[in-house]
Amino acid sequence: MTHRFDLIVIGSGPAGEKAAAQAAYYGKKVALVEKSPFVGGAAVSSAGIPTKTLREAASYLTGFRRREVYGVAPDLTPVDLIEHLRTRALQVFETMTEEVHRNIERHGIELVHGFASLDEQRRVEVRLPDGTVRELSGRVILIATGSRPRHPPEIPFEDEDVMDSQEVFDIREPFGDLVVIGGSTIGCEFASIFAAAGASVTLIDRSDRLLKVLDKEVSHVLADAFRNAGMKVVLGGGRRPLVDRDEAGVRVTLGSGEVLHPEKVFYSAGRSGNTEGLGLEKAGVALDGKGRIVVDQRFRTTAEGIYAAGDVIGPPSLASTSMEQGRVATCYAFDIPFKRAVDPLAPIGVYSIPEVAMVGLSEQAARELGIDFEVGRSWFSRNSRALIGGTTDGFVKLIFERGSRRLLGVHIVNEAASELVHLGQSVIQFDGTIDHFIDSTYNVPTLTDAYKYAAYDGLGRLHSDRSR
Ligand SMILES: Cc1cc2nc3c(=O)[nH]c(=O)nc-3n(C[C@H](O)[C@H](O)[C@H](O)COP(=O)(O)OP(=O)(O)OC[C@H]3O[C@@H](n4cnc5c(N)ncnc54)[C@H](O)[C@@H]3O)c2cc1C
Repeated sequence: MTHRFDLIVIGSGPAGEKAAAQAAYYGKKVALVEKSPFVGGAAVSSAGIPTKTLREAASYLTGFRRREVYGVAPDLTPVDLIEHLRTRALQVFETMTEEVHRNIERHGIELVHGFASLDEQRRVEVRLPDGTVRELSGRVILIATGSRPRHPPEIPFEDEDVMDSQEVFDIREPFGDLVVIGGSTIGCEFASIFAAAGASVTLIDRSDRLLKVLDKEVSHVLADAFRNAGMKVVLGGGRRPLVDRDEAGVRVTLGSGEVLHPEKVFYSAGRSGNTEGLGLEKAGVALDGKGRIVVDQRFRTTAEGIYAAGDVIGPPSLASTSMEQGRVATCYAFDIPFKRAVDPLAPIGVYSIPEVAMVGLSEQAARELGIDFEVGRSWFSRNSRALIGGTTDGFVKLIFERGSRRLLGVHIVNEAASELVHLGQSVIQFDGTIDHFIDSTYNVPTLTDAYKYAAYDGLGRLHSDRSR
């Protein structure tokens, strides 16, 4: 017997959960299929939430970057530290999973646990945990099956000392040193977590800077902060390091020929979409050359009535944007007059220690667009709140149009960067100028106040240019 719904969502991560809730809120009959026993997707089980929990917990439990300020730090054995980290990650996971569950229940969504696949008639077959199959049909289907760590074939992930971002959560024993390969968001975040947890970390990227999607200066400021915190950052070399094993243990050979023998290797090589076994070909859903589901601006795939959102359609691959994609997709699918587009000015937040965040244009992007721009900077080493808290790494960097003083981009390196960036985002969204920061009175002492001094710095540069 086929069970009929208005919408069938495959995957209960941020994209699937929010899409399902939005359609249900507007009166649609919705089924949400999830293969895992838990709801919430990678975001809750192995990605954003648990990594941020480990980051907070490791910093707190070891007094990382604050030991120097207070001259004291909690005194835990490495074994106890691991135990505390695991316990805390589990607590947050359970609370967040429950929260997603409650949201599903509150909206009257039918949750079906099992592995979903599509057939030629666009029906969804769900293989239930007991081996039986349940057949669902929906006016609309949304694929939100997410992604997993990409495993380049030459990297021996089967080696117990080589980890990806999912396997990290299985660590039970402390270790002393680690090589992190890949200086993108995930590499920088995990390098920070392990450094905070007390490991000696070497972070390697084959290019000449970390976080290549960000402003160049930000990459250098972050690398300096990492080095000041005791991390070894090795950049350049052109090719990815080789990883294998010899008699001394796991071995990393750098582009320069240097050989390292760390206790563990963390390898980050991007993400692959979860498209296997879904019957996409049968259903007429096309993939691009990188294995990602092709969608248009309304999140429609190449098959009638089938939509896709979240990591499975590729970058930016963030929980924040995945949720919005899910909501926008259902609005189009059911002609709900609510959301018509995902915010084109979404910020990026990297939860390294210190954090990095940006919104709008980088210096390089502004230059490529031929914009006549100026920058203003303010360093947290001179900000009173940062001095009080001992979080003086980093800066606020504003990019603005020279003639109009219109704000174009904001780049922040600081412990609270992912929060601070939203002020800049609002100013850009409302077409504001850097005068907004100059004319506003902010609480003092605050980190926000750094915006004001970055704006003053920018003004000063404009004036010194004129007086030349
Ligand atoms: C280490 C790490 C840290 C991150 N940190 C952040 C962050 O700080 N902020 C941020 O915004 N983003 C962050 N991200 C990205 C974020 O986690 C993802 O963008 C987000 O989880 C994608 O949501 P999604 O709904 O597309 O997929 P997912 O969260 O991956 O969920 C997909 C769900 O689909 C289910 N599924 C798959 N196939 C099937 C099937 N055939 N049948 C039924 N169910 C199926 C899966 O079990 C899963 O539950 C991070 C990612 C990683 C890896």
